[in-house]
Amino acid sequence: MVVGEMPEGVDMLVVGGGPGGYVAAIAAAQLGRKVVLVDADGPDGLGGACVRVGCIPSKAMIELADRVHGSKEWARRGAPVAANEPVDLESFQEWKSALVGGLNLGVHTLLRRAGVDVRRGYFRFTRTDQGALVADEHSPPTHLQFASCIVATGSRPIGLATLPRDGHRILDSTDVLDLAELPAAVAVVGGGYIGVELGTALAKLGSTVTIVEAEERLLPTMEHAAGAAVSKGLNQLGVDVHTSTTVLGDDGAALSVSGPSGEAKIEVGCIIVAVGRTPNTEDLGLDALGITPQPSGLLEVGPDRLLTRKVAAVGDITPGPALAHKASAEAHVAAEILSGHRSTFNPVTIATVVFSDPEVAQTGISVADAREVGVSAHKASFPVAASGRARTLGADAGMCEWTTNEEGIVLGALIIGAHASELISEASLAIEMGAHLEDIAGTIHPHPTMSEMLQEAAMVALKRPVHVPAAR
Ligand code: NAD
Repeated sequence: MVVGEMPEGVDMLVVGGGPGGYVAAIAAAQLGRKVVLVDADGPDGLGGACVRVGCIPSKAMIELADRVHGSKEWARRGAPVAANEPVDLESFQEWKSALVGGLNLGVHTLLRRAGVDVRRGYFRFTRTDQGALVADEHSPPTHLQFASCIVATGSRPIGLATLPRDGHRILDSTDVLDLAELPAAVAVVGGGYIGVELGTALAKLGSTVTIVEAEERLLPTMEHAAGAAVSKGLNQLGVDVHTSTTVLGDDGAALSVSGPSGEAKIEVGCIIVAVGRTPNTEDLGLDALGITPQPSGLLEVGPDRLLTRKVAAVGDITPGPALAHKASAEAHVAAEILSGHRSTFNPVTIATVVFSDPEVAQTGISVADAREVGVSAHKASFPVAASGRARTLGADAGMCEWTTNEEGIVLGALIIGAHASELISEASLAIEMGAHLEDIAGTIHPHPTMSEMLQEAAMVALKRPVHVPAAR
């Protein structure tokens, strides 16, 4: 060992300050561990992509768009609301920055109160129980020797070689959330979560939007009905959706695409590339741990999330959906396992939620998933149009659907409609607890609420519905 490389001992090292890392740090501290959390951006990085450039700012923009669009809709229905004010994105950005700053500070406060030492620096493994932390190019690295380590370095947007990001005409999702001016015409490349959410929001704010998706439907990773409902909603907003279409390039004025009806040019002022995310694993010194990432960059882990006896990985760098709540759930497991407790990660109730219009959310497994593992399953649904509460919201698109096994035990749910993002957790709880349809049907749901649809769909499955005719 060279002088100056004398390592500092750390009990529990957490690498990354996002919803995987900061939750792991708090959970480990609660288990009695002395925790150091390192993030390349130091305290500014706390909350990760979720708080700074993902979930939170995107939901703020979607909320703004809903208010703008909603006021137009309510003016149409007779409400005395001003509907034609132009959107002031500059003021919105100021509010959003304060919102993000507040949450970032909140995470830092939580970590401080838990006794977690937060440090700035980029960490790379150099041995199986050690690594170097580089705060900046002028300072020598600090060497940290850890008893346990949880890696939660997250992911970043994937770029397209044919559409290199310039931050002006060609944007990634982070750039879009920082827009101070609304683009008049925009093409969104990718019809997954981000493409659908941002495309919907921009259309509601007043942009002319085209979505280009390579697969034959939007939201290809979700159940078929979700993509179909979202396509219909986008259509009503005037969004042009091109599926089974790939991008050829951009000439600075028009995006060239190739689809089922041949090649076309879409004239737009800006292009948003939202074709997925890639894990931040390539520069972590993983070879020092004897670990080789998958070709996708993801790190294979078991239900205990361990990479080695001392090192665990959580969040977007492990297989599964790149979702904050998945990362946080894995973080608890990793902290428990590395602190000598029994724990295991069960991904079944990771709900996927898209803040589209209508919102879509699914949890558990579908009938097709069940059949794949040899389980015979059924589904039963209740239409949103039959909900009185939905009518008062002026939102009658969608449905609530349960998937059950032969015995009526709940296996999964799909909810399409207003507040699906909130309703889905009742379904996840039902799955987690092994609830029977009778449990849901027998739970008195308050009226008038959207949640009644879960009870009604269970009653459809039990062949005694009240608000839709019983199947003969
Ligand atoms: P995604 O994987 O959901 O969607 C990317 C889409 O781009 C896919 O449908 C894919 O078929 C399409 N595509 C890929 N290459 C293409 C090309 N060259 N031309 C046209 N289409 C192409 O990825 P995303 O939308 O970028 O989101 C990234 C991750 O962020 C998601 O996996 C999700 O987990 C997370 N996220 C979650 C939420 C939420 O929870 N509400 C919201 C946004 C993002």
